This record gives sequence, structure tokens and C-alpha cells, in this order.
Amino acid sequence: MRTHTVLLLAALGIPAAVTADSTQTQPMPRATVTTDTAMVSAANPHAVQAGVDVLAVGGTAADAAVAVQMMLNLVEPQSSGIGGGAFILYWDATEAKLSTFDGREKAPASATPAYFQDADGEPLKWWDAVVGGRSVGVPGTLKLLEHVHGQFGNQEWSDLLEPAISKAREGFKVSPRLSTSIESAKERKLDMFESTRDYFFKDDGTALAAGSYLTNDNFARTLRSIAINGSAPFYTGQIAKDIVAAVQTETNPGEMTLDDLANYTVVEREPVCVPYRAYDVCGMGPPTSGGLTMGQILTLLSNHDLPSIGPTAEAWHLYIEAAKLAYADRGMYMADSDFVSMPEGLLDKTYLSERASLIDPATSMGKAEAGSPPSEDALNFAADLQPEREGTSHFSIVDQFGNIISMTTTIETGFGSRVMTNGFLLNNELTDFSFKDMKDGKPVANRVEGGKRPRSSMSPTMVFKDGKPMLAIGSPGGSRIINYVTQKVIAILDWEMDLQAAIDMPHVVNRNGKTDLEEGTTALDLQSELEALGHEINVRGLNSGLHAIAIQDGKIHGAADSRREGIAAGF
Ligand code: GLU
Repeated sequence: MRTHTVLLLAALGIPAAVTADSTQTQPMPRATVTTDTAMVSAANPHAVQAGVDVLAVGGTAADAAVAVQMMLNLVEPQSSGIGGGAFILYWDATEAKLSTFDGREKAPASATPAYFQDADGEPLKWWDAVVGGRSVGVPGTLKLLEHVHGQFGNQEWSDLLEPAISKAREGFKVSPRLSTSIESAKERKLDMFESTRDYFFKDDGTALAAGSYLTNDNFARTLRSIAINGSAPFYTGQIAKDIVAAVQTETNPGEMTLDDLANYTVVEREPVCVPYRAYDVCGMGPPTSGGLTMGQILTLLSNHDLPSIGPTAEAWHLYIEAAKLAYADRGMYMADSDFVSMPEGLLDKTYLSERASLIDPATSMGKAEAGSPPSEDALNFAADLQPEREGTSHFSIVDQFGNIISMTTTIETGFGSRVMTNGFLLNNELTDFSFKDMKDGKPVANRVEGGKRPRSSMSPTMVFKDGKPMLAIGSPGGSRIINYVTQKVIAILDWEMDLQAAIDMPHVVNRNGKTDLEEGTTALDLQSELEALGHEINVRGLNSGLHAIAIQDGKIHGAADSRREGIAAGF
């Protein structure tokens, strides 16, 4: 591939201010970036550069996604990579067709519902379960990229890996966010395993400083092998053997076998779309709860005139109540639909209009109960709220042909299981399962089962008007993702906010409990009014990483979350 470096914004290498004691990047003022032809919005400038370079030589969004993901794996290793899983929404402009692809990690075939329980059947403590091979699900991201590239790419696969291979060899500067993430993950055993410790820490045991150079020859070798042979070495060759050996940690060993890796498949699934005012909002179906939960919240709000109410306490009250109802159904019913007969009627109009009548504009309902959506099977589940932590990355890409990708990609919590092999980290996605398999004599839908995919909250999203795509968006943030993405969609569609302003709009989050308001922001101005309506408020940092592209008036607009280190750029 010709290297054609497109001049990124002056923002390339943007100095991100990071607080000393957390991984929260302080909001930096940004502006929406507008171009004519193509755009990438992602969590790191090197990754954006790699993607823009591919687009500039005529590559598609699918081609650029390969380059972006491999670079993210290198420069933002704590969040995503080939050791993890991902979901892709792909808009194929030629066919005018939206497809959704599931590259979610899977439990080993031998896993049972007691997988995360001790000898007495008690659930393990969360961090005890995370650290080590036991939490590692069979990774899907590499096969997913190979699949989507095979279907929609026009560039040579091997060329797309080249930027990450060179960068891994020549080295990159550790970003402020990576450095503070290493520092804070040290307390949570990031230095427990030798290969991980050697890579992320200095000889004296302190975290690599921001600005220090890091090379990754092991990762360069891994990518070289994948560049030549595709995903085979990873799923059936030497890397597969190394992964299986690596999950055999002394404490907390995993059960993944070579067969589990060899049998991994990417699944194309039906998009989950709901009409919302003049738009169609489309997302990913199970095993993520993202598309369905967003679809419920938007449908529950569709009879309220949010455009005229505006972003006021009145609107946020309605939003919070709708979120509670949707999260209650999510906890009860949503899981891997290949294993659990989920009710078909979670987006049923009549059902949701009955649920919407539970929203009282004058007072909070407190905690919402799950409803009884129409279903062919008898519904007999127990509620579960397994928390998910905040690793993960989202990127959006539009190419010169009008193809669009919206991809959320993860190794689950920051640095995943802490187990590293061949220069990349392995995920801890299996801790997204419920550790309890039964409650009150009823099975939990999201319990562990052999070959099952853990329930996710990832919400890669696209919005359409008159059948034409107008927005691609998504975010990391564990189970808060659904709130982050849904409310930005509302801000863009209903309040007609500028893209960057919408992304930077302070967060108001509810997962059917207390309402989180984003600390240090104007969201706190809502506190007394929301309390008067009966909401319990919790003020905290809310570290989204929204990366969005809008297509409007024949132009392409990109924005990257000021809370992180990403940028949007194109030509
Ligand atoms: N593991 C989570 C999920 O799949 C994502 C974690 C995160 O966003 O940090 O929903």
C-alpha cells in the first residue's frame, strides 16, 4: 500500500490532561471536524492516522477498521485487541444494506453454571475471578475483522496490518491515559504475571511514564504471522497453543482448549431497529443488551415531546424513568439468545406503551420491576445485575464510497485478565456472565454455560433518516454504555445539538438504581430539581469514550469524546 499521509488536525498528539490519581481524562474543549469525503473517529490519534491513510488510498470502511483496530491494540492495549471481542454494524452503500456481526467472546465448551463459584457454591469475588486465565473467553475480534474484510474490503489484508507492525517495531509514546491506567491497575494485580509486568512496568516496578517509548516486538511478530496467514495461526496454530498455555495460570486457571479456539465462529445477526420520531435507530442484538435496551428507552420516550421540552430536569426525569424500566427488563431477560429463549416481545409497541404509562412526569417510580413482554415461552427468569467495568473502545468510520462502520471492541475491564501472550492481552469477558446461576429457585438468563457468549452492553449504533444513514456512534463504559449512547442520540436528534457538543454534554445515567450525575459538570445543576422529583443522586466521574460521525447536508462531521485522547479526522 502506498503510504499516503493525510495531514491530520493539529490535534494529532493532542496533549491530554489527566488527573494524577485516576484514569479520567479532563475534558478538553474540542470542535466538530467537518470534511467532504471520508472520516475516522477513534480513541487514539495513531489509530485514526492509520485508518485515514487506508481511506486515502481508496480503502473501504472495512479495510480501515482493520488498520484502526490493530493500531488500537498496540497504543491503547488496555481497552481492546485481538485477545478480545467486538460487535460491528456495517452499512454497505452499494447494496444500501445494514449488516451486524457478532465477534463476542465465548465460554469454553466445558464451562458450567458453577464456573465462577467456590466449592460451597458461593460466587467468587469479582476481582478474584478477573485476574488469571479463568475469566478469558475465546476471543472473536480477529476472526470478526477477517470476516468483515473478506466481505467488504478492497485492500490487501497484509497491507492493513503494516502500520501497526511498523509502529510496534519502531515504538510509540506511552500516552498519559495509558500511563495512569497502568498505575491504577497496579493495585489490581497488573504486575502479577511476568510477561505483563515486563511490558508495562519499569525495572523498579513503577508504571511506564507518559511520553516514554514503548516497542512491542512480540506483537509485531504476531501481526506479521497474521498478515501472511490470516487468522489461522491464532485459532489453530502456534498462537492458539500459546493462548491455551497462557490461560493455565497458577491461580485461577482457565479451561479454554485448542478445540474451543478452532471452533470459534463469527455470527451475522439481524440488526435491532426501532423507529424514533422521523428516524430509525439501529443497533446490535443479543448477546449484547445494547440494541434492545436502547430501543426500549427510545420507544418509551417517543410519546413525550422531548424536542420542545429541551434538555431540562423535566426531560431528564422522563429519561431516567424510561432507563429504569428498560434496565429492569435487561436484567431479567437479556442474554445470549442462542442459549436462552428470550421473550420476542421486548420491543413490542403495545407492551412498551403499557410500560410507558408507568412513567409519572411528577414523581420517580423508585426502582422499576421487569415487565412481562409477550413471549411464546413461559417466562421464568431471575433478575441479575452483573456489573461490567470500563475498558473497551469504540470507533466510527465513513469511507469515500459512503460505507460506514460502527465498531465497539473490548477486552472488558482495563487490561482484561492481565494475562499477556505474544504481545497482546487476553480479555476477562467471561466475568460479564452472572456468577450466580439461580436466584429464588429460578435460572438467571445470563448464567455461564459452555459455548455461550456473555451478555454485553456494547451499543454500536447507526441512525437512518428516510433510509439513509446519518449517524454512527458508540462508546465504552460497561453497562453505562447504553445510557451514554442513548442520550447522545436524543441530544442530536431531538435537541439538534452540534455533534461535539452532544458528545461532551454532561452525562446523566441511570441503570435502575441511583442516578449518576457527571462530576465537575453542569449536570449538577439538575440535582435539586431531580431530588425534588424523588431521585437519589450520586455524583461521580463518568468516563465515556464516544466516537461519532454524522452525515448531514452532504458533509461528514466527526467528533471524539473530550474525556479521552481520541480525535476525529479525515479529508
Ligand atoms: N464488557 C463490557 C460489555 O461487553 C464492556 C466493558 C466496557 O465498556 O468497559 O458490555
